Order: sequence, then structure tokens, then C-alpha cells
Amino acid sequence: AAKQGGRDRAVPFSHALLDAAHERAELAADLRYAVGAGEMHVVYQPLVDLARDRTVGFEALVRWQHPQRGNVPPAVFVPIAEESETILEVGEFVLDTALAAAARFGGDVEVSVNLSGQQLLRPGLADLVAGRLRHHGVEPSRLCLEVTESAAVADLAAAREVLGGLRALGVRTALDDFGTGYSSLSYLRRLPVDILKVDKSFLDDVAEESGVAVLSGIVELARALGLVTVAEGIETDQVRSLVASAGCTWGQGYLFARPLTEDAAVEHLRQNERWRRTTA
Ligand code: C2E
Ligand code: MG
Ligand code: MG
Ligand code: MG
Repeated sequence: AAKQGGRDRAVPFSHALLDAAHERAELAADLRYAVGAGEMHVVYQPLVDLARDRTVGFEALVRWQHPQRGNVPPAVFVPIAEESETILEVGEFVLDTALAAAARFGGDVEVSVNLSGQQLLRPGLADLVAGRLRHHGVEPSRLCLEVTESAAVADLAAAREVLGGLRALGVRTALDDFGTGYSSLSYLRRLPVDILKVDKSFLDDVAEESGVAVLSGIVELARALGLVTVAEGIETDQVRSLVASAGCTWGQGYLFARPLTEDAAVEHLRQNERWRRTTA
């Protein structure tokens, strides 16, 4: 870019860029020890059945408490971890922690775990998952594994096979962040998934009439394919009712709850059940 600008329009050397690269390298190095050092933990965000106003499960979300930098968000460190095998260690930690939590939640409460692209394509994933389910004594049907559209589309044939293998175990599968990537409806038809998670960016348009029409169309299509839809990032009552009227099955968002610690999630379930019994 500096050259293109010509001699007298040369772009000055950027310390900001160097800092960003330097910081990434530093985080990558720190990440290698993070799981072993106990710096990672998992939080749980309720998944709510919109028609019955009931928590049916939780999405497990990883958190990294860096000893010097404090909380580093997964949107920052997951992509860095993805560049090395560190993501596999993080992924196994989250799966194991979430299944231990699922055993504690009990009942038919579902726990949903995000899979990285590397985990998805790693041979032996289904065996690993089956082993951890047995270890924690959790029914396969109570586990859902989420893959993003971009990870699934990166190697569609492999993704189909792996997702099919997970489903054969009785585990549910979800396509995450639908609408942010390729969003091709043909991919949707060809991927063995049970749940479609509609990205928050769709909900941001839902207050406009055309936004509701688009969402209703997606929900209808999903239903025709036998999929359950989850609307991500519901922050207001207005969006909640629009999403419900569009026919979405489940919702997730700050309106219902922020991601909770395991103890707070157990308490949330208890409150949710009590409230249901007194209003039923
Ligand atoms: P995601 O899987 O789409 O997770 C939903 C994200 O939306 C979470 O951000 C959640 O806290 C946030 N969210 C939920 N409700 C609302 C809302 O009402 N408003 C807004 N603005 N945001 C809301 P989080 O926890 O920061 O995670 C970001 C992304 O990092 C996740 O997006 C997922 O792609 C990735 N991630 C998180 N945990 C893991 C993990 O254990 N493994 C992998 N591979 N990726 C993970
Ligand atoms: Mg997710
Ligand atoms: Mg998502
Ligand atoms: Mg999302």
C-alpha cells in the first residue's frame, strides 16, 4: 500500500500495526499455558422456550481471565487459539466442564457447546464426545454441538460426515451465526443439523417490517427442513415478541439473562421452575 501511494504519498510506518501483531503473538504464547494454569472458565447463558417462557438449556461460553490483562473476550482469543493446536485444548476443557455442569443441572436441560473449525475436522471427535458423555453420565440427547456456517462450509464434505457421526451418537447439532457468512440455503439443506441459530444481526433489522418478513421466511424454511430455530441476542421485549411472532422456537439474549456462572445457572433453573409451578 505504501508503494501504491507513490513517493510523496508514502504511508507512514505504523506502530499500531506492529503493536497489534506483537500483541497477538503475546496472547498466542500466553494461551498455551492458560488452560493448565486454571485461567479459563465457562459461563452458561439460558436458552428460553419462547412460547412457554421456560429455560430449556444453556449455551456454554468460554472465558479467559488473563493474569495481567484481566478478562480477554473469546471474540479476541478464540481466533488466535484457532491458529495453533491450543484451540483443541480449550475445546476439550469447555466440553468437559460443560458436561460436568449438565450432570449437575439434571433433568432434560440441554447444554450447547461451540466447536471450532479445527475441532470439527479433527479425526476422532465423535469418539471423544462419546467418551466424555459416558464419563459424566449425561444422555447424548442433552448435548448440542454448535458449528459456525463458515467452519462447516470450509470443508463441506468433511463437515457433513462429522456432523452425521455426532448425530448418530444421539447428540444434537446446530448451525451457529446463521446469516453472517455464506447464508446459502443450499448449505442448510445439505448439513445434518437439528437447530438453526439465527444471528443477532438479523434481529437488529427486525423492528422494520421487511426485517420481520425475512426472519419469518427463514423460520418457515427451517421448519420445512425439520429444524428448530433459536434467535440470538434478544435484548428488548419488542424484539422478543417480534421474534416469537415470526415463529422462532427458542431465544437467547440479555433480556432473559447474561451468561451465568455454573452456580448462578443452577439457581436460575430453580427460580424458573418455581415460577412455572406458581403460574401454571
Ligand atoms: P456465539 O456462539 O454466537 O455466542 C453468542 C454470543 O453472543 C456470546 O458472546 C454471548 O455472550 C453474546 N450474547 C448473548 N446474548 C446477547 C445479547 O442480548 N446481546 C449481545 N450484544 N450479545 C449477546 P461471547 O460469550 O463473547 O462469545 C463470542 C463468540 O466466541 C461466540 O459466539 C463463539 O463464536 C465464540 N466462543 C465462545 N465460547 C466458545 C467456546 O467455548 N469455543 C469456541 N470454539 N468458540 C467460543
Ligand atoms: Mg454459539
Ligand atoms: Mg451464535
Ligand atoms: Mg452470534
